[in-house]
Amino acid sequence: MSSVHQLSHPLIQHKLALLRDKERSTNGFRALVREIALLMAYELTREMRTHEVDVQTPLETARCRMVDGDKTVLVPILRAGLGLVEGMLALIPGARVGHIGLYRDPKTLEAVEYYFKMPKGMPERDVIVLDPMLATGHSAAAAVTRIKSTQPRSVQFACLLAAPEGIAHFHQRHPDVPVTTCAIDRCLNDHGYILPGLGDAGDRIFGTQ
Ligand code: URA
Repeated sequence: MSSVHQLSHPLIQHKLALLRDKERSTNGFRALVREIALLMAYELTREMRTHEVDVQTPLETARCRMVDGDKTVLVPILRAGLGLVEGMLALIPGARVGHIGLYRDPKTLEAVEYYFKMPKGMPERDVIVLDPMLATGHSAAAAVTRIKSTQPRSVQFACLLAAPEGIAHFHQRHPDVPVTTCAIDRCLNDHGYILPGLGDAGDRIFGTQ
């Protein structure tokens, strides 16, 4: 049941190469994340719900389909996930945005929630959870567990880069949740960073290095 979609589109791969460069400025990094997120949104919305409408053309009435954008909920995992929101909203402007914040308790190593806010009516909505890096997979899995407690219609997870370890952990916890990533990198280092990766995504998006 587990699925991982790797986005091989040349434009995404080109922008990802630019993003990985350690010389990329904060401004440039942010702009690239926005552009990649927009392209990812195109892929992530393939199964989006639509409804039929009649549109009056200059000649006659055309039966058309339009998306139910407000049924999509983007849920960035704070803080790095915020970087992906703007690009996705450019393509799905009607989407709702929920937020989840988690930190790791240094004693128990459990993920502890410090912020959680979702729109009303989650059982009617399709969630896309956002985090640029699927590293150990612990926070992604914990976030999805919490989001599932609101009983959304569907959940998927989207990231820029994934480590094999993160995918394995995440799919062990959530075999039903598809993962979409732009690349699967080699492994994690001893500090939980993805190799070759792109460094700390949050620091690079917000210029806090
Ligand atoms: N988080 C990051 O920002 N980068 C990594 O490589 C791993 C986790």
